[in-house]
Amino acid sequence: MKITNRRAKRLKKDFPIFRNNKRLVYLDSAATSQRPKKVIEAISNFYKKENANVGRGLYTLSEKAMERYNAARKTIAKFINAEEKEIIFTRNTTESLNLLAYTIPSLLKKGMDEIVLTEMEHHSNLVPWQQLAERNRMKLKFIKMKPDYTLDYEDAKKKITKRTAIVSVTHVSNVLGTINDIEKLVELGKNKGAITMIDAAQSIQHLRIDVKKIGCDFLAFSSHKMLGPTGIGILYGKKELLEKLSPFNFGGGMIKKVTWKDSDWEEPPEKFEAGTQNIGEAIGLAESIRYIEKIGIRNIAEWDSKLKNYALEKLKEIPGIKIYNHGKNKSVGIISFSLKGIHPHDVAELLNEKRIAIRAGHCCTMPLMKKLGISGVSRASFSIYNTFEDIDLLVETLKKIQEKFA
Ligand code: PMP
Repeated sequence: MKITNRRAKRLKKDFPIFRNNKRLVYLDSAATSQRPKKVIEAISNFYKKENANVGRGLYTLSEKAMERYNAARKTIAKFINAEEKEIIFTRNTTESLNLLAYTIPSLLKKGMDEIVLTEMEHHSNLVPWQQLAERNRMKLKFIKMKPDYTLDYEDAKKKITKRTAIVSVTHVSNVLGTINDIEKLVELGKNKGAITMIDAAQSIQHLRIDVKKIGCDFLAFSSHKMLGPTGIGILYGKKELLEKLSPFNFGGGMIKKVTWKDSDWEEPPEKFEAGTQNIGEAIGLAESIRYIEKIGIRNIAEWDSKLKNYALEKLKEIPGIKIYNHGKNKSVGIISFSLKGIHPHDVAELLNEKRIAIRAGHCCTMPLMKKLGISGVSRASFSIYNTFEDIDLLVETLKKIQEKFA
């Protein structure tokens, strides 16, 4: 069923945070989304009724916990059209990216020593690669962003060459909301024999992700940005590549055989999941996927787009506002802006007086801020529990802030 303003108000009731924080206007879902009662209960019920460690117990409770944990992996795999063995549990997108950046040397070929990113990367898809470049004497290259806040695909064609070892790009910019043409970028990378990685931290809550259709080798996302718990993230990797990749962490749960001298590893995914995992959180993430699927990701995307277009139109009315968004159908519900003469932190604090929560600052994209010639932005981002009234209140309050500072 399509989401309308009336339905969004009903959906909001599924989220206890709004009952416990009266009049909260939450416009920071790009930082972390809120969780529906069903997800909170799934985690709580696991700890209350089924808690045991997995993969080692030979008693009923442990077997049950293992079943639930495996079922969660299956739900996640199906959600992005992957195989179960291709889903690695991590803590978050950042850890998924670090896992790959640390272990990827086992996949690299001689003469391929360049890493291609874009100018709109979050620090999490930049710093791990800078570190790899330093360790392995590789070079970083950045696909340019055009003045309309989209990527320059002609520049991508020039930057991705036969020396490109890795193409790692964000699907959706956490500042601009721009949806990048990742299928095109993956194809450019594949044509040159590069390993391709997609940072799906911001797209997972807004768009349908199909790893087979995208054709990427790896993809990362976090549960907490898709109505799920914190502390759990995913690294998807093609089975044949995960098999070749070295392990990241070493210890219990990831080994086949250990002697005093050396050890053999389990097959993926266990090979990458050393130690006791976030079992309850994996179950919580599977519940958030069931919640999303029940509403329908296409309905979510459509509502997100309606809210974004409504907000873009309304925000434009504010004198002295600069909006960093391409709009049309090339962006999701993430809108960054600046108000002339007012620091983004002041904007956020004044909005907070009206219980409106937005993000302010560099949003973990310092190089992008430099490119935009600013030190930070104010950023509003939406989810299924947001309504037109939330946006009206945001715009009305911004107008008052602007008048006060004028
Ligand atoms: N990449 C992008 C595009 C993001 O927006 C974020 C989170 N803001 C991350 C990576 C990192 O996600 P996490 O903090 O969950 O590791």
